[in-house]
Amino acid sequence: MYIISTKAMLHKAQQEGYAVPAFNVHNLETLQVVVETAAELRAPLIVAGTPGTFSYAGTGNIVAIAGDLAKTFNQPLAIHLDHHEQFEDVKSKVLAGIRSAMIDGSHLPFGSNIELVKTVTDYCHRYDVSVEAELGRLGGQEDDLVVEGKDALYTNPDQAYEFVQKTGIDSLAVAIGTSHGLYTATPKLDFERLAEIRQRVNIPLVLHGASGLATEDIRKAISLGICKVNVATELKIAFSDALKAYLVAHPNASDPRHYMVPAKAAMKDVVRKVIADCGCEGKL
Ligand SMILES: [Zn+2]
Repeated sequence: MYIISTKAMLHKAQQEGYAVPAFNVHNLETLQVVVETAAELRAPLIVAGTPGTFSYAGTGNIVAIAGDLAKTFNQPLAIHLDHHEQFEDVKSKVLAGIRSAMIDGSHLPFGSNIELVKTVTDYCHRYDVSVEAELGRLGGQEDDLVVEGKDALYTNPDQAYEFVQKTGIDSLAVAIGTSHGLYTATPKLDFERLAEIRQRVNIPLVLHGASGLATEDIRKAISLGICKVNVATELKIAFSDALKAYLVAHPNASDPRHYMVPAKAAMKDVVRKVIADCGCEGKL
């Protein structure tokens, strides 16, 4: 079994005090780089995609390519559904072989969020699929998901307890001051809130919006219960900046086997740095 759930890997991370990185992938090259680099460092790995990514690349293509890379590099990994909002969408991807899902009802009122997440969790657990859900709302933009600053909400620790009890989820994404996309000002994370959530909730916690966070903030968050760190924007920027620079320097370039090389190398540096920040090298 090379395509696995995140349950055991996040449990081990929680026990041993590190985090597993989840990288958002979009194409063959991102998949190749994250799997190859994690395998080299013997690091546990989650490969994530939003609904937009799965419709862009094709769910079957992602499952097939990730599965083949996992086998080639002898690197069991989780393919994770990032910010999926529809039960039917999760169902069809579970049937396609994916074993890790985030059901995001964070835009719904508390009661409706619980109802949606419980329905999805009951279904997913029958297939040994791990489930992440979010309480509170991150600001910023990820694909079609846009949350204005005024609508961003921090996670309430008491509600977090009730949410986990009533839904049966395996991991909880918390809103403690990070946001999706690029930071325009240095984010100030609410570590006190994170510590309070951790006191009430004993499942692994998830940090979204980690692109551009300082290493010390990521480490501190891990010491307070974060077991999964999501990185999307940082990888995209490294990829496209290196690609643009190469094409500007080589305006006649037309062979992807050449112009993708520096873009892949730039992403590899990001993957290595995130794995170091997460403290998960050698933890596979
Ligand atoms: Zn996110």
